[in-house]
Amino acid sequence: MREQLLTLLEIQELDRQLDDLRSGLAELEEARELAGLREEVESARERVNGIRNRLESLNKDVRWLERESDVLCAKWQEMEGTMYSGKVKSAKELEQMQEKVAELKKEQAQLEDRALNGMEEIERLTERQAEEARRLQSLEARLAAAEEEHRQEVDRVRDILAEVSSRRSALAAAVSERILAEYDRIRERRGGVAVAEMKDGLCTGCSVSLSHLLIEQVRRGEGTYKCESCGRFLCYRGE
Ligand SMILES: [Zn+2]
Repeated sequence: MREQLLTLLEIQELDRQLDDLRSGLAELEEARELAGLREEVESARERVNGIRNRLESLNKDVRWLERESDVLCAKWQEMEGTMYSGKVKSAKELEQMQEKVAELKKEQAQLEDRALNGMEEIERLTERQAEEARRLQSLEARLAAAEEEHRQEVDRVRDILAEVSSRRSALAAAVSERILAEYDRIRERRGGVAVAEMKDGLCTGCSVSLSHLLIEQVRRGEGTYKCESCGRFLCYRGE
């Protein structure tokens, strides 16, 4: 029985490691350290998309302004053609046409100004787009590298967990089902410690002195004995 209890003590150490590994893995899987970088990539991507949308609409505007300007130009040219054809005899009508031509030219000049401003804006934004796209690319590369590193770390912890688990299974095969089941129950109740070594007549689980009878029984190790105070299994390695 002594052997089983000492094995149980080893199992308990592995269980402690497994608890740590599992909580470490759970935290790792949340990948909180990647969240900041992911957000940076996301906002860089939004900036690039925002600029692209703005460029699309500016290009549309400029094309529209150019078309409208061509329409106005055709109008006043036609009107001038009529004026200089000699067909219009009335001085008043000619004067009105001249005024209209001047008005159309002015309107066309305004459209051309707006188209020009649009083109300047397009040029400026195109440069910024290239800059932001480069920034996005480098952030994406950084994120990919960090994700890869993170994946490797998760795999590494999973491997260790599997290895410790299989060591635990091998040890558990040497301990009776009944003791293992009780061990699990006590461990749950007693903060992860279900087996305590007896040292100098004390339970190391709760530091309480054990009775002489119990000390003798645990020393002989013929059965399973529990601390009278904390209820943990007691094991004994020899003084
Ligand atoms: Zn105790």
